[in-house]
Amino acid sequence: MTDLSDILRPLPLPGNPEGVHVYCTRRGPEAVIDARYSGFNICDYTGDAPGHIAECRRALCSHFDIPLSDLVLPRQTHSTEVAVTDGTPMNLHGVDGLITSRPRLLIGVSTADCVPVVLADPVGRRIAVVHAGWRGAVGGIVENALARMVSLGSDAGDILVAFGPSICRGCFEVGEEVAVRFPEFCVDRSLPKPHVDLHTFIASHLQDCGVPVQNIAPFDPTLCTRCHPDQFFSARAWGVASGRVATIAYLDGV
Ligand SMILES: [Zn+2]
Repeated sequence: MTDLSDILRPLPLPGNPEGVHVYCTRRGPEAVIDARYSGFNICDYTGDAPGHIAECRRALCSHFDIPLSDLVLPRQTHSTEVAVTDGTPMNLHGVDGLITSRPRLLIGVSTADCVPVVLADPVGRRIAVVHAGWRGAVGGIVENALARMVSLGSDAGDILVAFGPSICRGCFEVGEEVAVRFPEFCVDRSLPKPHVDLHTFIASHLQDCGVPVQNIAPFDPTLCTRCHPDQFFSARAWGVASGRVATIAYLDGV
Protein backbone atom coordinates (compact mmCIF):
# COMPACT_ATOMS: atom_id res chain seq x y z
CA MET A 1 0.00 0.00 0.00
CA THR A 2 1.93 3.00 -1.21
CA ASP A 3 -0.47 4.86 -3.46
CA LEU A 4 -3.00 6.65 -1.29
CA SER A 5 -4.71 8.56 -4.09
CA ASP A 6 -7.82 6.40 -3.67
CA ILE A 7 -7.71 6.72 0.09
CA LEU A 8 -7.10 10.39 0.83
CA ARG A 9 -9.85 12.81 -0.10
CA PRO A 10 -9.14 16.55 0.31
CA LEU A 11 -11.61 18.27 2.58
CA PRO A 12 -12.09 21.84 1.34
CA LEU A 13 -12.02 24.80 3.69
CA PRO A 14 -13.82 28.01 2.67
CA GLY A 15 -11.49 30.15 0.55
CA ASN A 16 -8.99 27.30 0.16
CA PRO A 17 -6.31 29.00 2.26
CA GLU A 18 -2.69 28.31 1.40
CA GLY A 19 -0.61 26.26 3.76
CA VAL A 20 -3.44 24.37 5.46
CA HIS A 21 -4.11 20.80 4.35
CA VAL A 22 -7.12 18.74 5.40
CA TYR A 23 -8.04 15.22 4.30
CA CYS A 24 -10.44 12.48 5.20
CA THR A 25 -9.82 8.83 4.47
CA ARG A 26 -11.92 6.44 2.43
CA ARG A 27 -11.85 2.70 2.87
CA GLY A 28 -10.25 2.24 -0.53
CA PRO A 29 -10.90 0.21 -3.67
CA GLU A 30 -9.74 -3.09 -2.20
CA ALA A 31 -12.04 -2.93 0.80
CA VAL A 32 -14.39 -5.86 1.25
CA ILE A 33 -17.52 -3.87 1.79
CA ASP A 34 -19.25 -5.93 4.46
CA ALA A 35 -16.06 -6.75 6.37
CA ARG A 36 -15.86 -4.59 9.44
CA TYR A 37 -12.15 -3.84 9.30
CA SER A 38 -11.45 -4.13 5.61
CA GLY A 39 -9.90 -1.05 4.08
CA PHE A 40 -7.73 1.78 5.31
CA ASN A 41 -7.85 2.11 9.10
CA ILE A 42 -5.40 3.81 11.49
CA CYS A 43 -7.54 3.64 14.64
CA ASP A 44 -5.96 1.25 17.15
CA TYR A 45 -8.66 0.86 19.81
CA THR A 46 -11.70 -0.55 18.02
CA GLY A 47 -10.53 -4.11 17.51
CA ASP A 48 -8.63 -4.12 14.22
CA ALA A 49 -5.46 -6.23 13.86
CA PRO A 50 -2.36 -4.32 15.06
CA GLY A 51 -0.43 -5.33 11.93
CA HIS A 52 -3.09 -3.87 9.65
CA ILE A 53 -3.22 -0.62 11.60
CA ALA A 54 0.58 -0.33 11.57
CA GLU A 55 0.69 -0.91 7.82
CA CYS A 56 -1.89 1.83 7.21
CA ARG A 57 -0.10 4.27 9.53
CA ARG A 58 3.23 3.60 7.82
CA ALA A 59 1.67 4.21 4.41
CA LEU A 60 0.10 7.46 5.57
CA CYS A 61 3.31 8.83 7.09
CA SER A 62 5.30 7.72 4.07
CA HIS A 63 2.84 9.56 1.79
CA PHE A 64 3.41 12.80 3.70
CA ASP A 65 7.11 12.07 4.22
CA ILE A 66 6.97 12.36 7.99
CA PRO A 67 8.16 10.03 10.75
CA LEU A 68 5.53 7.91 12.51
CA SER A 69 6.08 10.00 15.63
CA ASP A 70 4.66 13.05 13.82
CA LEU A 71 1.24 11.43 13.43
CA VAL A 72 -0.74 12.31 16.56
CA LEU A 73 -4.04 10.56 17.28
CA PRO A 74 -5.83 10.70 20.63
CA ARG A 75 -7.54 7.84 22.45
CA GLN A 76 -11.05 9.22 22.16
CA THR A 77 -13.79 8.54 24.69
CA HIS A 78 -16.64 10.90 23.68
CA SER A 79 -15.22 13.42 26.15
CA THR A 80 -15.10 17.19 25.78
CA GLU A 81 -11.33 17.35 26.39
CA VAL A 82 -9.05 19.12 23.93
CA ALA A 83 -5.24 18.93 24.07
CA VAL A 84 -2.60 21.17 22.54
CA THR A 85 0.24 19.17 21.02
CA ASP A 86 3.61 19.92 19.49
CA GLY A 87 4.27 16.23 18.94
CA THR A 88 5.96 15.65 22.28
CA PRO A 89 4.65 12.34 23.66
CA MET A 90 1.86 12.93 26.19
CA ASN A 91 -1.11 11.07 27.62
CA LEU A 92 -3.95 11.51 25.13
CA HIS A 93 -6.37 9.05 26.73
CA GLY A 94 -9.77 10.66 27.11
CA VAL A 95 -8.93 13.42 24.64
CA ASP A 96 -11.32 14.06 21.76
CA GLY A 97 -9.79 17.11 20.14
CA LEU A 98 -6.27 18.20 19.22
CA ILE A 99 -4.76 21.59 18.43
CA THR A 100 -1.36 22.35 16.99
CA SER A 101 0.59 25.19 15.51
CA ARG A 102 3.60 23.04 14.67
CA PRO A 103 4.12 22.76 10.91
CA ARG A 104 4.06 19.28 9.38
CA LEU A 105 2.63 17.66 12.49
CA LEU A 106 -0.24 15.46 11.27
CA ILE A 107 -3.11 15.56 13.76
CA GLY A 108 -6.25 13.50 13.38
CA VAL A 109 -9.42 12.10 14.89
CA SER A 110 -11.15 8.78 14.23
CA THR A 111 -14.89 8.50 13.64
CA ALA A 112 -17.61 6.22 12.31
CA ASP A 113 -20.80 8.32 12.05
CA CYS A 114 -19.81 10.93 14.66
CA VAL A 115 -18.80 14.32 13.26
CA PRO A 116 -15.13 15.20 12.69
CA VAL A 117 -14.75 18.97 12.78
CA VAL A 118 -11.68 20.82 11.50
CA LEU A 119 -11.02 24.35 12.74
CA ALA A 120 -8.27 26.17 10.88
CA ASP A 121 -6.76 29.58 11.52
CA PRO A 122 -4.68 30.41 8.44
CA VAL A 123 -3.81 33.85 9.90
CA GLY A 124 -2.54 32.69 13.28
CA ARG A 125 -1.30 29.41 11.74
CA ARG A 126 -3.12 27.04 14.06
CA ILE A 127 -5.36 24.01 13.39
CA ALA A 128 -7.66 21.79 15.39
CA VAL A 129 -9.37 18.47 14.74
CA VAL A 130 -12.31 17.50 16.93
CA HIS A 131 -14.45 14.39 17.37
CA ALA A 132 -18.03 15.45 18.03
CA GLY A 133 -20.68 12.82 18.46
CA TRP A 134 -23.97 13.97 19.88
CA ARG A 135 -22.65 13.76 23.45
CA GLY A 136 -19.52 15.73 22.68
CA ALA A 137 -21.46 18.28 20.65
CA VAL A 138 -24.00 18.82 23.43
CA GLY A 139 -21.14 18.96 25.95
CA GLY A 140 -19.48 21.73 23.98
CA ILE A 141 -16.27 20.12 22.70
CA VAL A 142 -16.23 22.19 19.52
CA GLU A 143 -16.63 25.42 21.47
CA ASN A 144 -13.91 24.19 23.84
CA ALA A 145 -11.53 23.78 20.92
CA LEU A 146 -12.38 27.21 19.56
CA ALA A 147 -11.94 28.84 22.95
CA ARG A 148 -8.57 27.17 23.36
CA MET A 149 -7.46 28.42 19.95
CA VAL A 150 -8.57 31.94 20.90
CA SER A 151 -6.67 31.68 24.20
CA LEU A 152 -3.58 30.82 22.16
CA GLY A 153 -3.98 33.95 20.05
CA SER A 154 -6.44 33.09 17.30
CA ASP A 155 -9.34 35.39 16.37
CA ALA A 156 -12.69 33.57 16.06
CA GLY A 157 -13.39 35.71 12.99
CA ASP A 158 -10.46 34.08 11.18
CA ILE A 159 -11.42 30.49 11.91
CA LEU A 160 -12.42 28.31 8.95
CA VAL A 161 -14.49 25.18 9.52
CA ALA A 162 -14.96 21.91 7.63
CA PHE A 163 -16.90 18.79 8.51
CA GLY A 164 -15.50 15.34 7.72
CA PRO A 165 -17.40 12.15 6.85
CA SER A 166 -20.26 11.62 9.29
CA ILE A 167 -23.91 10.73 9.53
CA CYS A 168 -26.32 12.97 7.65
CA ARG A 169 -29.53 14.39 9.03
CA GLY A 170 -31.57 11.93 7.00
CA CYS A 171 -29.78 8.95 8.55
CA PHE A 172 -29.36 10.16 12.12
CA GLU A 173 -32.46 8.70 13.70
CA VAL A 174 -32.46 9.13 17.48
CA GLY A 175 -34.67 8.43 20.44
CA GLU A 176 -36.70 11.11 22.13
CA GLU A 177 -34.20 11.24 25.00
CA VAL A 178 -31.53 12.41 22.55
CA ALA A 179 -33.79 14.65 20.47
CA VAL A 180 -34.72 16.71 23.53
CA ARG A 181 -31.06 17.71 23.91
CA PHE A 182 -31.19 19.57 20.62
CA PRO A 183 -32.99 22.78 19.73
CA GLU A 184 -36.06 22.33 17.60
CA PHE A 185 -34.45 23.72 14.45
CA CYS A 186 -31.90 20.86 14.53
CA VAL A 187 -34.54 18.13 14.73
CA ASP A 188 -36.64 16.82 11.83
CA ARG A 189 -39.93 15.50 13.16
CA SER A 190 -41.52 14.80 9.81
CA LEU A 191 -40.51 11.13 10.10
CA PRO A 192 -41.83 8.51 12.54
CA LYS A 193 -38.72 8.95 14.73
CA PRO A 194 -36.85 12.21 15.27
CA HIS A 195 -33.74 12.89 13.17
CA VAL A 196 -31.01 15.24 14.40
CA ASP A 197 -28.89 17.55 12.25
CA LEU A 198 -25.60 17.55 14.14
CA HIS A 199 -23.81 19.70 11.56
CA THR A 200 -26.32 22.54 11.83
CA PHE A 201 -26.19 22.28 15.62
CA ILE A 202 -22.39 22.58 15.65
CA ALA A 203 -22.37 25.35 13.04
CA SER A 204 -24.88 27.42 14.99
CA HIS A 205 -22.80 27.12 18.17
CA LEU A 206 -19.66 28.19 16.33
CA GLN A 207 -21.50 31.21 14.93
CA ASP A 208 -22.62 32.08 18.46
CA CYS A 209 -18.92 32.07 19.39
CA GLY A 210 -17.99 34.52 16.63
CA VAL A 211 -17.17 32.34 13.62
CA PRO A 212 -18.65 34.02 10.51
CA VAL A 213 -21.25 31.90 8.73
CA GLN A 214 -19.36 32.13 5.44
CA ASN A 215 -16.33 30.59 7.15
CA ILE A 216 -18.19 27.34 7.77
CA ALA A 217 -18.26 24.90 4.83
CA PRO A 218 -21.69 23.20 4.74
CA PHE A 219 -21.66 19.44 5.26
CA ASP A 220 -21.25 17.62 1.95
CA PRO A 221 -23.93 14.88 1.86
CA THR A 222 -21.68 12.67 -0.30
CA LEU A 223 -19.65 12.31 2.92
CA CYS A 224 -22.49 10.63 4.82
CA THR A 225 -20.99 7.52 6.40
CA ARG A 226 -24.34 5.75 6.77
CA CYS A 227 -25.41 6.48 3.17
CA HIS A 228 -22.01 5.31 1.85
CA PRO A 229 -20.71 2.49 4.08
CA ASP A 230 -18.86 1.09 1.06
CA GLN A 231 -16.59 4.15 1.18
CA PHE A 232 -16.60 5.04 4.89
CA PHE A 233 -16.71 3.08 8.11
CA SER A 234 -20.10 3.49 9.78
CA ALA A 235 -20.93 2.24 13.26
CA ARG A 236 -24.60 2.15 12.34
CA ALA A 237 -23.84 0.03 9.30
CA TRP A 238 -21.15 -2.27 10.69
CA GLY A 239 -21.34 -1.93 14.47
CA VAL A 240 -18.91 -0.14 16.80
CA ALA A 241 -16.44 -3.03 16.40
CA SER A 242 -15.29 -1.80 13.01
CA GLY A 243 -12.69 0.47 11.48
CA ARG A 244 -12.78 4.25 11.61
CA VAL A 245 -12.56 7.12 9.16
CA ALA A 246 -9.58 9.38 9.84
CA THR A 247 -9.86 13.13 9.43
CA ILE A 248 -6.39 14.65 9.42
CA ALA A 249 -4.88 18.08 9.05
CA TYR A 250 -1.47 19.71 8.92
CA LEU A 251 0.14 23.07 8.33
CA ASP A 252 2.86 23.74 5.77
CA GLY A 253 6.21 25.02 6.87
CA VAL A 254 9.39 23.91 8.51
ZN1 LIG B 1 -27.02 9.63 5.20
